[in-house]
Amino acid sequence: MSMVHDESILAIDGGTPTVTDPLPPMYPGGMRLDRREEESVLQVVRSRRLFRYYGPGDGESKVDELEQAFAQHVGAGYCLATSSGTAALTAALVGLGVGPGDEVIIPAYTFIATAAAVLAAGAVPVLAEVDESLQLDPNDTASKITERTAALLPVHMRGTPADMDRIGAIARRHGLAMVEDAAQAIGGSYHGQRVGTIGDAGAYSLQFNKIITCGEGGLLVTNDKPLYQRMLMYHDVNAAMRHQIPVEEQRLGVNLRLSELQGAVALVQLRKLETILADMRRHKAAVKEGIATAVEACGARYRQMNSADGDTGLALIFFMPAEARTDRVIGALRAEGVSANRLFSPDRVDHHVYYHWPSLLEKRTCTVPGPWNWHTGSIEYHKDMCPRTLGLLGRAVQLDISPDLTDRQVAQIVEATRKVLDSM
Ligand SMILES: *Cc1c(COP(=O)(O)O)cnc(C)c1O
Repeated sequence: MSMVHDESILAIDGGTPTVTDPLPPMYPGGMRLDRREEESVLQVVRSRRLFRYYGPGDGESKVDELEQAFAQHVGAGYCLATSSGTAALTAALVGLGVGPGDEVIIPAYTFIATAAAVLAAGAVPVLAEVDESLQLDPNDTASKITERTAALLPVHMRGTPADMDRIGAIARRHGLAMVEDAAQAIGGSYHGQRVGTIGDAGAYSLQFNKIITCGEGGLLVTNDKPLYQRMLMYHDVNAAMRHQIPVEEQRLGVNLRLSELQGAVALVQLRKLETILADMRRHKAAVKEGIATAVEACGARYRQMNSADGDTGLALIFFMPAEARTDRVIGALRAEGVSANRLFSPDRVDHHVYYHWPSLLEKRTCTVPGPWNWHTGSIEYHKDMCPRTLGLLGRAVQLDISPDLTDRQVAQIVEATRKVLDSM
């Protein structure tokens, strides 16, 4: 082909890709691990205090320090570090007394771990649609409430906050608990208040794919002291003694503790959080503005924001006018070297969409059929139960916004996306 260097030819049609250097992988905190995390881990190893509650020396606990720093960072009364985000969610539900027989309303678009945590607590998940913010739809949530509903579980998906005013109002009206799943939105906020601190309890993940990371880990916050104590006991088997909890209030739990090695990494990552957020927000604003006219001209629309100033900036999402064109846009963007994903396709397994949760749809837990046996209502799941969610996600194009993009890469993402959208 003699025309391959013509800049107007899409890479998918044989043109030259617009993005010249490969984009950084989407591990925001993970890509920023450096000597500071190394040093912090070495301190733990050298001190031989690998367990948070004791060791041969009497140095400080990194996990303790992490909890205090995080509570202060987000403005929460109490913070508990856990072994994972799933563990944090489970401990929050158990701490709130949610268990067998109860229903918990979760969005149909979230990582499958949200549903798994509800089941781990012994309750059953009820799926509600998401709206054009790709967050739990308050109207559909209200319509799913029964006398067995115990809690609402909004998820701050893809770095942006759920509609906390309206979901909170529903929870209050019906006397329900509210747990926030902020696994994907650590550091984000809703009208000035940090996500995770708005409900009764908020859970975050420090798994490697999240904004900041220690490989595996979780954080749990609350302002409610008795709730904090129940979560603490649940996460530490029955170590109520070391937590000065009176005998008659002691409860059995499991072990969801975070190790000092992980705490050492997470503590350093927390200090990098605001810089990572600032970088993602800056790049996202530049891309969003740069492609705005092209988005509008092809009939696409940006995802709605419940609190735009509290967005963490990790993803820019727009909806194509029709599902048919979405695959073509994704293919063309990828060929240009842009990191783009369609958020739902029936043929591509993605555990963020309930459609691809066969274990839930067929009610399979390890104790078959577990929590559904203890539940007196009739809950059935099927692949088409949340059509609005599938319709929105099927038209949704997500561009990853790494904090480590260079200005040149940002400019190339803008150029490539405009070129692709203009050709649609
Ligand atoms: C990652 C994630 C979780 C689970 O966190 P883990 O630390 O992997 O257990 C829960 N909910 C959402 C929305 C997530 O993205």
